[in-house]
Amino acid sequence: MTNEDFAGALALATLGCQAGVEPGNEYENSPPIYLTSSFCFDNAAQAAARFAGTEEGNVYSRFTNPTVRAFQDRLAAMEGGEACIATSSGMSAILTTALCLLASGDHVLCSHSVFGTTVGLFTMLAKFGIETTFVSPTDNAAWAAAMRPNTRMLFVETPSNPLTEISDIAWLAELAHQNDALCVVDNCFCTPALQRPLALGADIVTHSATKFLDGQGRCVGGAVVAPAALVKEKFFPFLRTAGPSMSPFNAWVFLKGLETLTLRMDAHSRYAAELAAFLEQHPRVSRVFYPGLASHPQHALAARQQTGFGGVVSFEVKGGRAAAWQLIDSLKLFSITANLGDTRSIVTHPATTTHGRLTAAQRAAMGINEELVRLSVGLEAPADLIRDLSQALDV
Ligand SMILES: *Cc1c(COP(=O)(O)O)cnc(C)c1O
Repeated sequence: MTNEDFAGALALATLGCQAGVEPGNEYENSPPIYLTSSFCFDNAAQAAARFAGTEEGNVYSRFTNPTVRAFQDRLAAMEGGEACIATSSGMSAILTTALCLLASGDHVLCSHSVFGTTVGLFTMLAKFGIETTFVSPTDNAAWAAAMRPNTRMLFVETPSNPLTEISDIAWLAELAHQNDALCVVDNCFCTPALQRPLALGADIVTHSATKFLDGQGRCVGGAVVAPAALVKEKFFPFLRTAGPSMSPFNAWVFLKGLETLTLRMDAHSRYAAELAAFLEQHPRVSRVFYPGLASHPQHALAARQQTGFGGVVSFEVKGGRAAAWQLIDSLKLFSITANLGDTRSIVTHPATTTHGRLTAAQRAAMGINEELVRLSVGLEAPADLIRDLSQALDV
């Protein structure tokens, strides 16, 4: 079946298990891994036609590989997009998007509450003549006021990392389109299982497949889902020329990850909601950030825009960095690591890790203080996780 056969007809869970994979010669029920760097041709004329692009088919795994293509087609189907290219990491997905769509003299509007390295990437692009203004993800008026005639891209991550702020995707897409700009959404926190930005008007979705798409903390990878014309004319030639490619092995891991995505995201969301409710009533916790809580400032928008609230919960523990670090060190079931979206629950101190390379002023503008702790709620029994949090808060 092709993506066209699936479009609109099948539910997300079905697409996750079946889209993008053609039956193979061996009648295998699980897709094979095409671990080959190059592909052979019947004759010299066919080789020439494949290289010239006049005949479709595999050439070389930097830009054509059946396992990578299966992942791309499955993710595109799940996002409701026309096409996708897989990349070596989430950062290379964002880099690819920026380098394919922007040129010297262009201006970008980016949420200031994005992944720390994403801030670094857009800042780095200044030396190539691409200027970025960082704006609050929730202040629509600030986005409108920051627009310039040369603004070509609006980039947002919603819910944001680590504070789970929610941006109004439909509103931002409309603003972008009035200015002939493109709206790009990093859909890492929700995945298509909980949010489909393209259906809300966004033009492009980027992913760090490393997180929930894999879901088990094994591989680093990324993806860009975009209109077919953009993929054909911009992204594919860039992938072929610059080579930020995904390995077939990683593509296979992500492909299998997509098969359980809807189930996992549902469980992550339910468990995270239980932990958020527990933390919100704890006397040592001053504030909890989780879009599913009625106290979250954009709870209503999240409920409208998403079909679930996700697996990331952040909170502030009273007592500054010392209290935050003591809590982190006292947890027994949470891994201390900077990843998220794993079956294993994870605890992170954003101010000194993921967002540690930003200036104190940048962190302050984003609302990330020393008391902030981020949890990526895994798939362990939530009662065990709550017991662990409880003992660590009582130390
Ligand atoms: C991790 C992450 C990235 C970067 O992805 P990598 O796969 O680590 O390169 C981008 N955006 C968000 C929201 C992330 O959490």
